[in-house]
Amino acid sequence: MTTPYLHNHLGGRWQPETATAHTLTDPVTGMALARTGGAASELAAGFGFARSHGRDALQAMSYGERAAMLTRVLEVLKAKRDDYYAIALANSGTTQADSAVDIEGASFTLAYYAKQGAALGVARTLLDGAAVKLSKDGMFQSQHVLAPVRGLALFINAFNFPAWGLWEKAAPALLSGVPVVVKPATVTAWLTQRMVADVIDAGVLPAGALSVVCGSSAGLLDALQPFDVLSFTGSADTAALIRSHAAVARHGVRANIEADSLNAAILAPDATPGTAVFDAYVGELVREMSTKSGQRCTCIRRALVPAGSFGAVAEAVSAKLAQISVGNPRHADVRMGSLVSREQFESVQAGIAALRNEAQVLFDGAAVALVDADPRVAACVAPTLLGVRDADAASRVHDHEVFGPVSTLLGYRDSAHAIALAHRGQGSLVTSIFSADTDWIANTALALAGSNGRVHAVSPEVATSHTGHGNVMPQSIHGGPGRAGGGEELGGLRALRFYHRRSALQLPQAALQVLAAGAASLAD
Ligand code: NAP
Repeated sequence: MTTPYLHNHLGGRWQPETATAHTLTDPVTGMALARTGGAASELAAGFGFARSHGRDALQAMSYGERAAMLTRVLEVLKAKRDDYYAIALANSGTTQADSAVDIEGASFTLAYYAKQGAALGVARTLLDGAAVKLSKDGMFQSQHVLAPVRGLALFINAFNFPAWGLWEKAAPALLSGVPVVVKPATVTAWLTQRMVADVIDAGVLPAGALSVVCGSSAGLLDALQPFDVLSFTGSADTAALIRSHAAVARHGVRANIEADSLNAAILAPDATPGTAVFDAYVGELVREMSTKSGQRCTCIRRALVPAGSFGAVAEAVSAKLAQISVGNPRHADVRMGSLVSREQFESVQAGIAALRNEAQVLFDGAAVALVDADPRVAACVAPTLLGVRDADAASRVHDHEVFGPVSTLLGYRDSAHAIALAHRGQGSLVTSIFSADTDWIANTALALAGSNGRVHAVSPEVATSHTGHGNVMPQSIHGGPGRAGGGEELGGLRALRFYHRRSALQLPQAALQVLAAGAASLAD
């Protein structure tokens, strides 16, 4: 049986099939699922069409009209939901619950931006702050405005979130009036491509507003021009290539980079075994290790615990990990499916071996039997907990991201030591802190803010209501400094700033009044 071919959509039309360059497979069975071509053709023309037709149509609308457009996109995606779960199961090897993290996460974020955008109403201009006088008599003033960028937004995405990774970027871009070209990671491109196809076929977006390129990144960056923006999610190595690409440098392309992250979770000194906070920490660590088989950029990689609690945490976490059945996500008993590919399987095995040079194995995933999956074929890896009782004896754990169900327990001496260890991640997406001591929470959160895009605190009062260490909420920013890429996404309407240029309009006061009449202020 011929597998479906993932066509590129560029220049407002579907491109014909070309010779197969990549075959997407089921990571559990190894079965071929879909095919892509190689380097895309007509990139320059396709990008040009997006910058002209797509942009003009989008920017002719008000913010409120574009918000309504996002609602129509959401309705299309909701109607096709079952198809998306089937694709995720086959191509990402995820259980229903793990597929939901991606698919429902995408819907939630789209719905959020549709609502935020609706509040901007008929506005076609965004004001950034208040006008200030430049002349003594106040007749000549300066008003900063945010104008949608004149180019397109190119998204180069990672394999782990084919649904959310598209829409968490596209929602603020389209709301801003900026056309989107998405290049999904090849190994899981099917879901992204299908969602784009469904939205385009439904006719809810203007021609040129949304394009997709599957299979190869060749030529994409060369096709960028001044005014375009680029949002990349993936490994630090690819990020470094992208930052230094000639077209990005020459054209001053604004680039947002979301890369690797060695996130941490700190159990506070007060949270001794037997307390509610201790239990919350153990539960969260297990959830982080197992959700999407640990293939979330926000996962807890370094679990920092008081040295005196090291043994108790190791025991409690291991007991819970032993309950997790791993294997074919089609089997009703399986709680954790597979990694996205056999290549990732090899990479995770190599990562565990590297960390084992300085860490002991506290819970050995290699000893877990798979359910309904052939270990010689399936990309299934059971959770593995490593540990270093004296954290100062380890260094690789702060530098090597093992992108799977793997965390390392590190024993710390005191709070200052824990904070210093967290900073050794060289810039992280998130660190979570677990304590019943309100002062400790406030002080530690602030101490961590400089090296983390997000700090997530759990106390007994929020033990059941907090949103989860690894969950990216559109209300809060996502991104981190340094090693995490230095990027920033989401964060309410702050996300729109990436897709706008700030310009200072120095105008007579009367002209400013005309301008302000059709404008909204961008409240974050
Ligand atoms: P990757 O290998 O860096 O690939 C990411 C994307 O870049 C893919 O679409 C890939 O296309 C493309 N690409 C590869 N080489 C390129 C080049 N020379 N020029 C332009 N594009 C190129 O990363 P991955 O393995 O898919 O993702 C896993 C990594 O992403 C992990 O390290 C994880 O931490 C990180 N991640 C970070 C975040 C975050 O928000 N910070 C979120 C998710 C994942 P092909 O697939 O066709 O090679």
